[in-house]
Amino acid sequence: MSFSSFIPPQRTLMGPGPSDISPQVLSAIARPTIGHLDPEFIKMMDEVKSLLQYAFQTKNEITMAVSAPGSAGMETCFVNLVEPGEKVIVCINGVFGTRMKENVERVGAEAIVVEGEWGRAINPAQLEQTLLKHQDARFVAFVHAETSTGALSDAKALCSIAKQHNCLTIVDAVTSLGGVELRVDDWQIDAIYSGSQKCLSCVPGLSPVSFSPTAVDKIKQRKSKVQSWFLDQSLVMDYWANNAGGKRSYHHTAPVNSLYALHESLLHLYNEGLENAWQRHKDQHDKLAAGLSELYIEFIVPKKERLPQLNAVYIPKGVDDAKVRSYLLNEYNLEIGAGLGNFAGKAWRIGLMGYSAKNENVLLCISALKDALTQ
Ligand SMILES: *Cc1c(COP(=O)(O)O)cnc(C)c1O
Repeated sequence: MSFSSFIPPQRTLMGPGPSDISPQVLSAIARPTIGHLDPEFIKMMDEVKSLLQYAFQTKNEITMAVSAPGSAGMETCFVNLVEPGEKVIVCINGVFGTRMKENVERVGAEAIVVEGEWGRAINPAQLEQTLLKHQDARFVAFVHAETSTGALSDAKALCSIAKQHNCLTIVDAVTSLGGVELRVDDWQIDAIYSGSQKCLSCVPGLSPVSFSPTAVDKIKQRKSKVQSWFLDQSLVMDYWANNAGGKRSYHHTAPVNSLYALHESLLHLYNEGLENAWQRHKDQHDKLAAGLSELYIEFIVPKKERLPQLNAVYIPKGVDDAKVRSYLLNEYNLEIGAGLGNFAGKAWRIGLMGYSAKNENVLLCISALKDALTQ
């Protein structure tokens, strides 16, 4: 057998993630590896924390990146906060909501489902009714930006209802962070997780998370140990916590080079400005929507509930889903996403995430789709 280096093709990534990565972020990962307890590295980690606090719009002391993808961030929130027997209201309007329910059940807690429509935002009135029926619920969990359907829920409204019923809030912001308005402190979000490879346009494999002081208290009052040793925040916090003169202790080896990349991508977001980044996603979405409508391609989600960074559209009648996607990949090096869950085979998901949300990509996508459909 003979082997040679793997040289990946140059693609344009317009699916549900990973998104395109800028040359600066990519080159950051190739910088020299240093020890994860090296004082210089720790300085950088402190900046990652501050930059994440900015991205999340929070002052939460416990704000960090879990050394694993978004799914691990999801699991981190559930296994640390929720104890066996507790009641969690889970709003489900797509694939990632069903995973939240799965997490709740594996913790040994009880999931009460607010059944939303796929392709629509979660209805706040429906959450309110469910909370009235389940006064003993401790948590409300929902997905801010449902990547499987392209729907954006009103996180502010949902959290405000949850708080009126004395619940802690757990929010999936894997696709929303950096792409649409998100304000952790103002909206009273207690636990939130995201992913590095969506609107942050960083390499996959890191999951930014943040816990409010209320959430930290809840974790400290646990009666039982967190069943996952790796994701147990009381252990990891010792590494990330930065009390003046505080000594960082070893828990696991941080993914040093990936964290250089995260630092670089967060720096770009900081320099652009959050509001500007949100606006850029919206502007590019409007351009894409105009181009798609000329091709008679229709959106799944009503206009007011659409995610700018994830455009879920119906595959036109008589068009072969797989053929079009492989034509785009082979002829244009362009990746768009297939439908997921209830939308498998029925939808395409066109991502405009982070560095991918730019004029060149929108133009390429529209002209390549036009060519593919003509062929
Ligand atoms: C991508 C995604 C996840 C999972 O993230 P991974 O990095 O793939 O583990 C979770 N929730 C939502 C909404 C996502 O879009």
